[in-house]
Amino acid sequence: MSSQSQYGGDGNMQSKQSAKSTEGRVENAAVRSDQNTPVRPTDKKWRAGVLGATGVVGQRLVNLLADHPWFELTEVAASERSSGKTYAEAVRWHLDALIPEVARNLVVKGLDLSLDCDFVFSALDSSVAGPAEEDFARAGYPVVSNSRNHRMDPDVPLLIPEVNAAHLDAIPLQQKNRGYGTGFIVTNPNCSTAGLVLVLKPLADAFGLEKVFVVTLQAISGAGYPGVASMDIQGNVVPFISGEEEKMEAEPQKLLGKWDGSRFVDAGIGLSAHCNRVPVIDGHLECVSVGLKKIASLDEVHEALRNFEVDAELASLPTALRNPVVVLDEENRPQPRRDVNAGNGMAAVVGRVRECPLLDVKLTLLSHNLVRGAAGAALLNAELLAARGFLKRRAAVAEQNVAEPVSR
Ligand code: NAP
Repeated sequence: MSSQSQYGGDGNMQSKQSAKSTEGRVENAAVRSDQNTPVRPTDKKWRAGVLGATGVVGQRLVNLLADHPWFELTEVAASERSSGKTYAEAVRWHLDALIPEVARNLVVKGLDLSLDCDFVFSALDSSVAGPAEEDFARAGYPVVSNSRNHRMDPDVPLLIPEVNAAHLDAIPLQQKNRGYGTGFIVTNPNCSTAGLVLVLKPLADAFGLEKVFVVTLQAISGAGYPGVASMDIQGNVVPFISGEEEKMEAEPQKLLGKWDGSRFVDAGIGLSAHCNRVPVIDGHLECVSVGLKKIASLDEVHEALRNFEVDAELASLPTALRNPVVVLDEENRPQPRRDVNAGNGMAAVVGRVRECPLLDVKLTLLSHNLVRGAAGAALLNAELLAARGFLKRRAAVAEQNVAEPVSR
C-alpha cells in the first residue's frame, strides 16, 4: 500500500486527523465533529500572501492555502525573475496535485509593501529574507517565516505550537523594541529540528533531558530547487549540509526553553548533531540517543511518546493533530517512502525505541521536511496567531503603520 493511501493523502490538511498509533498501525480517523471541529474565530477569512511562493516551500504553502477554512490566498510574491508573470507561468510546480485554481492566475509581485493581504508567510531564500521580513513587519504585516534569518533573534518567537505556544508572549516586546506597530515576525524551526523537538517535548516533560545525540539522513527537497546536483547525490551520501548542525544544536535550546517575560532562557541540554544528505525526495530520518534526567523504563518512554496529546486550544486548529507523535512497533519503520505523509505530513513518526548503552534511550524518527518542517509548520503557527487574536484586518490597521522600506 502506498504511503498516500495509507495515511490519507498528501498536502490536504483540511480534514482534522488523529494519527495515534495502535499496535504499530497508524489510524487516520477524522476527529469527531462534536469534539474538535475547527471553528474560525471570526466569520471572514484572513487574506494571506506568500513571499517566495514559487519555491518548494512556497508551493506547499500555496497548495495548503487553496481550501483553507480560515485563510484565503490573495497574493504571491517572488524575485524579479517571476514578478509580472501569472503564478502558473512563473512556478516550476513540483507537487503531484495540480496548481490550485485560486493561485494559477494570480500575478506574481515583487517584495511590494502594499500587498493586498492581512499577513504574509515568508518562504524566501535566506539571502533576502532577513531585511525583507523586517520591512514587511515594519509596514504592519504579521510575518510567519520559514527562513533561518530571525529564528534566534532575542525577541522573535521560534515556534512549534505543541511545544512552546507561550513564546508568543514575546510579540508585544518585539513590537515595542522595533517600533513595529501591528506587524511582527514569528518563525518556525529548521526542517530537521522540527521533528526532533516534537519528539523530545514529551520526554522533556516526563523525565527531563540531559543530553541528545542525533544523526540525520536528510532528503534532497530540504535544499530547495534545484538543490543538490544529481551527480552528487545519486547512489551517494553527502556528510555535510552547510549550517545545519549549528541550527540543530542551537534551535532546540530556544524551543524547549522558556520565555521569562523579558528574554528566552535556553533549555540547557547537551546537544550534538551530525547531518547527512541522502538520495530521498521528501522526509528527514533521524537516529537519536537521549540522556534523561530521571530514570525511566522503556515502557514509560513508550507511554510518554504515545500519550503526547495537545490541549483543546491546539486541537481546534485546522492543521493540528491531536496526537502529533506516532509510535510504530515494526522493527524496520519509520521509512521515508512509507511513512512520510503520516498525519498529512504533520506527524513525527517514531520507531525502534530501545535502550542506549551510552545514553539512556535511542530511537529513530521521521518527519516531512516540507510539511512539518516548513509549510505545514508555518500554517499551524498562523492558525495559532489567528486563534489568539494576533492577526488583524489589514484595512483596519493600514493607517497605523508607515509603509516605508528601511532595509539595511
Ligand atoms: P527555493 O525553492 O530556492 O525558493 C526560494 C524562493 O525565494 C523562490 O520563490 C524565489 O523566487 C524566492 N527568491 C529568491 N531570491 C529572491 C529575491 N531576490 N527577491 C524575492 N524573492 C526571491 O527554497 P525553499 O527550499 O523553498 O526554501 C525557502 C525558505 O524556507 C529558505 O529560507 C529555506 O532555508 C527555508 N526552509 C526550507 C525548508 C525545505 O525543506 N526546503 C525547510 C524549512 C525552511 P524565484 O522563483 O522568483 O527565484
